[in-house]
Amino acid sequence: MRDGRYHIRNFTLPELEEWVQRLGEKRYRARQIFQHLYVRNVSSWDACTDLSKSFRAKLEAITIFDALVLKKEFCSSDGTRRFVFELRDGYQIESVFIPDPPRYTLCVSSQVGCPLGCAFCYTGSLGYRRNLTAGEIIEQYSQVRRALGSKPRITNIVFMGMGEPLLNEKELYRSLAIFLDSRGVSFSHRRITVSTVGIIPAMRRLGESYPVNLAVSLHAPTDELRNELVPINKRYPLSELIRACREYPLPRRKRITFEYVLLKGVNDSEFHARKLVSLLAPIRCKVNLIPFNPFPGSSFERPSEERILAFQRVLLDCNITTTIRTSRGLDILAACGQLAGNLDAREDLRQW
Ligand code: SAH
Ligand code: SF4
Repeated sequence: MRDGRYHIRNFTLPELEEWVQRLGEKRYRARQIFQHLYVRNVSSWDACTDLSKSFRAKLEAITIFDALVLKKEFCSSDGTRRFVFELRDGYQIESVFIPDPPRYTLCVSSQVGCPLGCAFCYTGSLGYRRNLTAGEIIEQYSQVRRALGSKPRITNIVFMGMGEPLLNEKELYRSLAIFLDSRGVSFSHRRITVSTVGIIPAMRRLGESYPVNLAVSLHAPTDELRNELVPINKRYPLSELIRACREYPLPRRKRITFEYVLLKGVNDSEFHARKLVSLLAPIRCKVNLIPFNPFPGSSFERPSEERILAFQRVLLDCNITTTIRTSRGLDILAACGQLAGNLDAREDLRQW
């Protein structure tokens, strides 16, 4: 609840049922509201004509229908779209829509900024402000869907925008409950991916609660290097992270995805590739190589195409499924690690 009103998208369906009953309404009204929000994706209470006029007037008075304001939208030449939303306290977050037919992925943010400060990440370099609520997470989906019109449909959700989702567990889980609820958005768990840098106790809880896809941002095969690139490694070192991945309750036929940002001259050698192979040997996994995406003030560089392919070759030769993530939306600063909201002074792309 903010300024005395309730953000309507901040309720899971069971919570909404309890809430409408407290307002003196029948329980099934909650399901109607949930369908309006997530199946019909209406943009105002006026459109919910199966609710009585007096109930709608009450809802109008005590709820916030939209907590995000779409501030800007950038369209990349490759079809990627970056959305900048302003929150009610003035902070901004970003969501990225990535069309790759037949897959249409929405990348959502889970925090304003990020406290973990990975060396190569723009979001991390700008600090942390606060966690998002479940409603603010789910509304990114609702608003982008609205902006896209009837087509194309969003088919996949990835928690790879701003922030570390497993540092915002409670709201992450509530947003997953909404995404997965068959009476609303009804996403299959196969189409949702949570990406984490490896908050081990939270990974365990996620695995026990929601069978969504897990992506682990690894980026280095030794503690020495990972401590530098991913400072949280000092708290959750590689041996413990790998053990947690081994013990992760993976649903049948699923694999953990390891993300590995390739940084020229830092973690991209043959030595690193071989180390990575032995580290991952005990795990049912695949690897996603992400050539570094530059941002204002960054000192890292992207390796040559040849080096990237040579790194991939080492992994493939050891039978590790390894893809190279083509950077989408680079021209609009929408690629991995480039999201900043208004935490920087970046006004538009001409400044850079
Ligand atoms: N905090 C979570 C999720 C958000 S980051 C995590 O780190 O997993 C999503 C992915 O983008 C991560 O794998 C991250 O390492 C990667 N990334 C961050 N900065 C990047 C950059 N500059 N270039 C390429 N990938 C980057
Ligand atoms: Fe945070 Fe992920 Fe960026 Fe690291 S890579 S600073 S965990 S958002």
